[in-house]
Amino acid sequence: MRYEYLHPTEELALTMHRIYQYKMTTTSGGNLSIIDENRDIWITPAGVDKGTLTGKDIVCVKSDGTVIGLHRPSSEFPFHKAIYDVRPDIKAIVHAHPMALVAFSIAHKVPDTKLFPQAWWSSGRVGFAPYGVPGSEDLGRKIAYEFTAGYDSVILQNHGVCCGGDNLQEAFQRFETLELCCKTLIKAHLIGAPKYLTEQQLQLHSKSDVKLDGFDYNPSMMTIREKEMRAQLCQFIQRGCRQRLFTGSTGSFSARIDQDKFLITPHPLDRYSVLPEEIVMIRKGKAEYGKNASRATLAHKAVYDTHPDIQAIANANPVNCLAFSVCQKTIDTYTIPESYVFVRDVSLLPFEVSFNDFDRLAQVLTSKSPAAVLCNNGVMMVGKSVLAVYDQLEVLDCSAEAVLDSQSIGGHMPMSREIIEELSRAFNL
Ligand SMILES: [Zn+2]
Repeated sequence: MRYEYLHPTEELALTMHRIYQYKMTTTSGGNLSIIDENRDIWITPAGVDKGTLTGKDIVCVKSDGTVIGLHRPSSEFPFHKAIYDVRPDIKAIVHAHPMALVAFSIAHKVPDTKLFPQAWWSSGRVGFAPYGVPGSEDLGRKIAYEFTAGYDSVILQNHGVCCGGDNLQEAFQRFETLELCCKTLIKAHLIGAPKYLTEQQLQLHSKSDVKLDGFDYNPSMMTIREKEMRAQLCQFIQRGCRQRLFTGSTGSFSARIDQDKFLITPHPLDRYSVLPEEIVMIRKGKAEYGKNASRATLAHKAVYDTHPDIQAIANANPVNCLAFSVCQKTIDTYTIPESYVFVRDVSLLPFEVSFNDFDRLAQVLTSKSPAAVLCNNGVMMVGKSVLAVYDQLEVLDCSAEAVLDSQSIGGHMPMSREIIEELSRAFNL
């Protein structure tokens, strides 16, 4: 979906709904705004339940100070205005108190976002503003000072975070990715020392845009199988965003149509609201003319070309898997029968492999070894259907979470080799 076509009232209400759904704000906390070309500021209201907010509740504060709307503007309006006054390039602001960011805010720390590529590219420069009384002009000055210094996201001491962007979706993606980065760091420390991407690795990722030749796509030739796959991919990507397996700006999902064709998510487009017509068809190595395919297209193509039985593939960044990914450790699936039966042994692959060694990827990922942890780049999963891949991803992240959770109660005891062999016989693995 193209958010730029929405009126600010609808875009603000939709985005607040998403933040609340993700448990990234409470009923009372958090506020969002958009400034338009007349310098009028559209902002979420004070004292309205964030869980039921609609477009009608959004308030407009005109550039002359007149307030239009059913409610008072958010009590944090002064700092929104202070940021817009010093940074004309910022057109939208997201502020809230999600737990992982609050953890950094109360520990007076700024996360190192070179943890995984999207955290680095999406979060922008991250600053830290000293404490100020909520709603005060003083807090506005302190936050605006950090934005003047060129920061795009600012952690507020003993309060929360404030992210700016060219538009509301960019500000939201900064906020979502920065929170994922903080959550990952907190969890990673349970199992080791997180590793960070080098300048060379970040460059490798930044040059990974896929430039495929185009072919003229004719929608009237669409088969039922293709329509089903387009719909399924959209359903599972959206569900994956709600379940936090994907974020708006991270993750790829593809599905095979036949020997020569597969469908894959576009880049860059918000995964949460992707539509069937925005999914990209790849046919004999060429992409639908006029669309940008996911950066993972060539990696997915290599797997499809090597394994005719693989029907779907995903790259994902669920937080528990990410904790292992940034510590460059594999995920133990000898935890409970479900984990081993669905995911088997999980491979561990270097960061560079998903950018320049597709042959190795295709050798490692098979229907009998469907999962790999990619160092500092999440996980990759292959399977027999879109549903199977989605299910395996959920199982893998649950296994990762259980191992992480067991750390505070003495660590986990893996199932023995004998149990694994017995499971393999019982389930014909
Ligand atoms: Zn606040």
